[in-house]
Amino acid sequence: MAAPEAEHFDVLIIGAGISGIGGAYHLRDQRPDTSFVVLEAMEAFGGTWRTHTFPGIRSDSDLYTFGYRFKPWTGPPIATAEEILAYMGEVIDENDLDRHIRYRHSITSATWSSEERRWTLEVTRGDTGEELRFTGNFLWMCQGYYRHAEGYTPEWDGMDRFGGEIVHPQTWPDDLDYAGRQVVVIGSGATAATLIPAMAADCGHVTMLQRSPTYFYARPNSHELADTLRELDVPEEWIHEIVRRKILHDQEQIVQASKHFPDLVREELFNGIREVLGEDYELSPHFTPSYRPWRQRLALIPNGDLFHAIADGDASVVTDEIESFTETGIALASGDYLDADIVVTATGFDLSVLGDIPFTIDGEPLDFASTVGYRGMMFTGIPNMAWVFGYFRASWTLRADLIADFVCRLLHHMDERGATVVTPALRPEDADMDLLPWVDPEDFNPGYLMRSMHLLPRQGANQPWRHTQDYWADRDDIPDADLDDGALVYD
Ligand SMILES: Cc1cc2nc3c(=O)[nH]c(=O)nc-3n(C[C@H](O)[C@H](O)[C@H](O)COP(=O)(O)OP(=O)(O)OC[C@H]3O[C@@H](n4cnc5c(N)ncnc54)[C@H](O)[C@@H]3O)c2cc1C
Repeated sequence: MAAPEAEHFDVLIIGAGISGIGGAYHLRDQRPDTSFVVLEAMEAFGGTWRTHTFPGIRSDSDLYTFGYRFKPWTGPPIATAEEILAYMGEVIDENDLDRHIRYRHSITSATWSSEERRWTLEVTRGDTGEELRFTGNFLWMCQGYYRHAEGYTPEWDGMDRFGGEIVHPQTWPDDLDYAGRQVVVIGSGATAATLIPAMAADCGHVTMLQRSPTYFYARPNSHELADTLRELDVPEEWIHEIVRRKILHDQEQIVQASKHFPDLVREELFNGIREVLGEDYELSPHFTPSYRPWRQRLALIPNGDLFHAIADGDASVVTDEIESFTETGIALASGDYLDADIVVTATGFDLSVLGDIPFTIDGEPLDFASTVGYRGMMFTGIPNMAWVFGYFRASWTLRADLIADFVCRLLHHMDERGATVVTPALRPEDADMDLLPWVDPEDFNPGYLMRSMHLLPRQGANQPWRHTQDYWADRDDIPDADLDDGALVYD
């Protein structure tokens, strides 16, 4: 069969999640003459916020910073998936982005040709099965960082003999009836902390079964400064900017304090829990992690709802190891036993490298792990490509906005130089530089990253090869990056 005829664009954006829609906005705003298309496998925009439909699904960071810098957020800081989708929908409508997006377009391969100086994408349409081909000068990967099709579930002994239902939050069955039933949620990350209060009142009882505790940050789902500014009739654009600055300032202080005064931060977090569960509540072992705060993302608990569910007796916590599943529940290493009709495995996801798309560069399959990241967004030996990998501790979108500005600036710079290809490459002075893991495991170590670090690019010990995961450094460094420091090679 003849190869399908290709459609060509200056820029190809992969994914219509918060990063891809943001990229499309910035490109249209900062480079109105650049042609582009957003290719998205799902039937609509939203990414993470469309994939996840479990009860209570909501953000765990505030929307003043998870929202884009250019579009004011006017609701409560922590938002439901529905509210986030509505916000993204407004961005699409207000900026006429819809005509640039192709839904149900799943990229199955990406090939760079130095001779043609362009990328070729093979694409399968989800609705018709049609095979399509797109070509583009620049590839902007906004495909996220985890596999959307299904989550990560560890193998436990006896799972197959369990008579109840085992459900992963990422593939939540629409018709799951948990009313009056005994539910065990395995895990204590943000997903478990969201699910449990949302289900608690309807279940017979819900137990959070954790191997080790997590830090929780219980606080009202409101922002005092935002409320005051609204009372004063300050325009929403100003409120958005002021409250973003205030939140980022406060977060920076928490990050610094977690490094230098971890005990103080721990106490502050514990006080938030005691406010709901009472001064005499024994926090150990369920709520007292051994690591210092912020080594993993702090799970924000709006209005302390998880702790209210515990105080009401609808939910409880067990800290133990799973020995095996039985026909009717879970046997624990301590010898205890949990009855369960439904087990929810809130055990995280599988990292997906470059959207699981096979990449080829001039006929050679790309080994992404052998590349070195340029500021964690472009990669040695990969021409004309950027990947949006956001922050863990701060909101993802802060970095999506920074990278979008960078890509637009880089494209301007290439125009000025008359270059059509840009490829990061280590310079002679980088020859002896230490190469380090993509993310410093001492600094941040969630399971999905630890399981897959060997598949990810490395970072260098010096700039511009570092991937610091530090918004407060990037905020100054990325807009100031010298595009002619020799690390970006133009042709
Ligand atoms: C439950 C949950 C809650 C979270 N809460 C927060 C939070 O509160 N704050 C925060 O900062 N971060 C949070 N995160 C991290 C979150 O994933 C990011 O913040 C952000 O939503 C990622 O946006 P993205 O657009 O980069 O990627 P995604 O949301 O993952 O979207 C990527 C898109 O690319 C598409 N795609 C992938 N591969 C292909 C392909 N081969 N072909 C075509 N399309 C493809 C996908 O279908 C998807 O629509 C959360 C993550 C989860 C799982």
